[in-house]
Amino acid sequence: MESLKIAVIGNGIFSLSFLWTLVQSEFSAKRNLEINHYYSEDWAPACTLNSTAIAALRGAEKDYSAINELLFEGWDELVRFSKFLKQKNQLDKKNGIEEALLFYDVSFVLENIHRWRQMTEVPIEMYPLEFMKNDNWRSSACFLFEPKIFQDFLMKEILTILREKNITYNVFPSTVVIANKNNELFFSGELPPKFFNDIFLFTGVYYKYFPDLQIDKVSEGKKVCGIYLEGKVFLGDQSFTLNFSQRSFTYRSLTQEVLIGTMDLLGEIERPPERYLQEWVDQTFQAFPFLNREVFHIKMGRRHQLSKRLPKYGKNKNTYYILGGHKNGFTLSFHLAKKVFELFSNEYLS
Ligand SMILES: Cc1cc2nc3c(=O)[nH]c(=O)nc-3n(C[C@H](O)[C@H](O)[C@H](O)COP(=O)(O)OP(=O)(O)OC[C@H]3O[C@@H](n4cnc5c(N)ncnc54)[C@H](O)[C@@H]3O)c2cc1C
Repeated sequence: MESLKIAVIGNGIFSLSFLWTLVQSEFSAKRNLEINHYYSEDWAPACTLNSTAIAALRGAEKDYSAINELLFEGWDELVRFSKFLKQKNQLDKKNGIEEALLFYDVSFVLENIHRWRQMTEVPIEMYPLEFMKNDNWRSSACFLFEPKIFQDFLMKEILTILREKNITYNVFPSTVVIANKNNELFFSGELPPKFFNDIFLFTGVYYKYFPDLQIDKVSEGKKVCGIYLEGKVFLGDQSFTLNFSQRSFTYRSLTQEVLIGTMDLLGEIERPPERYLQEWVDQTFQAFPFLNREVFHIKMGRRHQLSKRLPKYGKNKNTYYILGGHKNGFTLSFHLAKKVFELFSNEYLS
């Protein structure tokens, strides 16, 4: 059978979820696939690696909005993925993915009860923060990711399956793709264009170079910079995340890091104005006075937000895409990757 030459652009959570779904499938065993994987962290830093990376329903109720419906589907797919990992003893914080609890203060839950599910009370004694030791908290399940470790783990799994199935895989980790047209990709530098049967664009906020994505001015959406603080702090062996004082506070026990976020700024910003940033940092440490600000540094990721916070996936000619992961990329990635995979495989099976 003639080989099916595909290009996957991006190394963020959507690309990796798609590659994982693809290599797991029977389709990949039957077809003679050649996978070409392009990304460039220097030129286009992945949002995935600059993210607080919590997957959660956050109490969302069904039948409230389209995004809530999608979150439920995303959550169900993630739970299936976690069960698969559990069977293989791989759901483990050492792999950058773990089950944890997400806490909200009770007044927030009550204020939003019209659209949020009542959360459960949990024994709070096991958590280390003094200000948490009262009855003011409600919790729900979440998955916490350490994005770099999870990225490495998933890629290792993907490579193992690629070898087992004898699938050709070529990786170009610092190649900038500047455009796609019909079945060709164009690269920066002196590289000649290349032909592919199918092209998968999972480029996050860097979509504007690819006109075949069918993004027009109306549906273009917003670019939003998310800024957060990250620092080494030891708070025990139990990871957790909480919403408090209009901020999210996450503790990853594997890396002994606290992340506090996020301040959102619209547009393609290199760095927010210093005075504005300083004000936000000062207010953050006032809310958490027990933290030593010396150990914290600022991180920033770029998100893509579409109308009604709804991501878009689809196919235009031979180009497949997922856009607008916004604040839910980790919750939705495996579900949307599966949808794109179905679109693609159905083309060849029908
Ligand atoms: C501060 C912050 C906090 C967040 N918190 C959460 C959270 O708690 N939960 C959650 O679910 N989501 C969260 N998100 C959102 C989540 O991180 C994103 O939705 C997700 O990472 C998007 O993944 P992606 O694969 O679409 O894009 P990216 O991770 O941005 O990946 C894009 C990839 O494409 C490559 N690329 C792009 N253009 C080119 C090109 N022309 N040539 C070569 N390579 C290219 C890049 O190098 C990169 O590898 C947060 C985001 C931020 C910024």
